[in-house]
Amino acid sequence: MKTLLSAVALTLAATAPTIAQTMESEYASWPAYGGTDLEMTVDARGTNFALWSPKAKAATVYLYNTDRNTAPYDSLEMRLGEGGVWRASVDNPLYGKFYTFRITDASGKRLAETPGVWAKAAGTNGQRAAIIDFAKTNPEGWASDKGPELKNITDAVLYEMHHRDFSVDPSSGIVHKGKFLALTEPETKSPLGDKTGIDHLKELGITHVHILPSYDYNSVDEANLPANQYNWGYDPFNYNTPEGSYSTDPANPEARVREMKEMVKALHDAGIGVVMDVVYNHTANNDDSNFSLTAPGYYYRHRPDGSYSDASGCGNETASERQQMRDFIVNSVKYWAKEYHIDGFRFDLMAIHDIETMNQVAAELKKINPSIFVYGEGWTAGDSPLPVDQRALKENVNKMEGIAVFSDDIRDAVKGHYSNAADRGFATGKPGNEETVKIGIVASTAHPQVDYSKGNNSKFAYAGAPGQIINYVSCHDDLTLTDKLAKSMPGSTEAERQRAARLAQTIVFTSQGTPFMFAGEEVFRDKKGVHNSYKSPDSINAIDWTLKHKNAEQFDYYRELIKLRREHPAFRMTTADEIARNIVFDKVLAPNVVSYSIRNNANGDEWKEIKLIFNGSNDPYVARVPKGDWMVIARDGKIKSEGLETSKGGTIVVTPVSALILARKK
Ligand code: CA
Repeated sequence: MKTLLSAVALTLAATAPTIAQTMESEYASWPAYGGTDLEMTVDARGTNFALWSPKAKAATVYLYNTDRNTAPYDSLEMRLGEGGVWRASVDNPLYGKFYTFRITDASGKRLAETPGVWAKAAGTNGQRAAIIDFAKTNPEGWASDKGPELKNITDAVLYEMHHRDFSVDPSSGIVHKGKFLALTEPETKSPLGDKTGIDHLKELGITHVHILPSYDYNSVDEANLPANQYNWGYDPFNYNTPEGSYSTDPANPEARVREMKEMVKALHDAGIGVVMDVVYNHTANNDDSNFSLTAPGYYYRHRPDGSYSDASGCGNETASERQQMRDFIVNSVKYWAKEYHIDGFRFDLMAIHDIETMNQVAAELKKINPSIFVYGEGWTAGDSPLPVDQRALKENVNKMEGIAVFSDDIRDAVKGHYSNAADRGFATGKPGNEETVKIGIVASTAHPQVDYSKGNNSKFAYAGAPGQIINYVSCHDDLTLTDKLAKSMPGSTEAERQRAARLAQTIVFTSQGTPFMFAGEEVFRDKKGVHNSYKSPDSINAIDWTLKHKNAEQFDYYRELIKLRREHPAFRMTTADEIARNIVFDKVLAPNVVSYSIRNNANGDEWKEIKLIFNGSNDPYVARVPKGDWMVIARDGKIKSEGLETSKGGTIVVTPVSALILARKK
């Protein structure tokens, strides 16, 4: 923070200040308040309201008996105290009541009512904050509830899912379709008898579900749930309240809190952790956002003309470098970790935030639970006034302790460019991606046999350790892998596309770093070719669970692949030195082939050497494997972590579009 201020001061001294610079120095002079009692607390003295709004001329609390459509039964004038905080109290606990704030801004204008920025419970559509007794929202056994212990993030297998995608289709056999409670239902099955829901997750073997935004977002009308609206939820409204449409009763503020906790508990009981997708980088609204209605201007960055800057591509961007916004982000994730036992956080457009904020986020979360991890998108969606060297960019990941970034390197190299549907990648026969696949294999760390000058997306080893890298070939954004393969492999059969998917995911799941997959790809789900399905109907987004029967071999492949990774620490090394020492690439002349060994019982593995050969071409590749007592783990589109057969080495043909994995104990 000191560096930022002095940099701004230098700029101001050098040239006449712009409006934005004037605003920046003005905001920096606002008193910040670091207390955790902001907005509403209930204690022995009663119900206390505390709104941070240093420049307001007046502030009022309105009290309501219901969550909407009624006039307030009372109002309280607030008084400005220390730290820019307005306060008011009543001497009894107002459990069951609702409240809003309304301020008069610096110009004397009365703004609209707002539930504030720290509403922890709310009624329908989050319009009014609610006063509830959180102790009463805890499921049985909550005090001893714990997520899985994780020594290193690379031990995680991440499964990214949307609540509706996962359970809303009739074939899920789940009662609470599209709800938090969907993940609490055991023994659900598709009509064809395959496991669905939480049992499916256990069967697949992932370690963590990464749930798409589950805080209260703006777009889905909670008052009209029968309309079955769909949204990913990247339009934040109340950051510290669960989304109402995922509860069974949005009008009952306790329901969403209790049901989300029940989901977390059920997953934890199944040994599965919960990662929350958080979107502090922008808000759904500009002047009407809860930030703007409590402290106008402060929480956002601006252009020189005073308008909202827009690094999010959604109309605004928040200003994490300002103390009160930074504290908001840090305190918000801490709140979710403590109140909801969340095990990890995925930061949307993380590079809109500054490095210092992300470092504080990671450090504070580790104090709560060392198993909590943080990763994010190390890029922005547009330019930002925040200087590049302060952004939490992929290229700056080495300046961030305990933060990982998505590898767009491996993503685009393996399947082809993310936005050019027809473009192919390594796994679909396009040469020129070999070196970038190698960059993915070593998790973007420095390796003597990897030439970063040939990298497609990155030209230097930006990661200092594999724990800084999340490997993936698809996520909720862009085409699903199934659709990408269909669009880039015209004239192919489904069997050929499934083969390419297996090769692509084999590269991801055996690479160093942390693997991440999009829900339903294990049953070869598609989205009917829609690449930006953020508000598409269920007919596009829902996973059809009868696919699990139809594509049973695909599912089995994914399950065994995950099992292989989890049973073998060699795929989960923790330092760049180990990777440089234990991974040896073979010289290959053929295009679209990468061949390497993981040697030296890497990371304590029982296997002395693992040989992996990826053939993404349409020609067979004749490999010469050293003589030895090898187990064949994967070959010709099949995989078994205990071994399919044995081999004495020598000449082995790697069939087109497949992975050969061999292992030997001595
Ligand atoms: Ca909502």
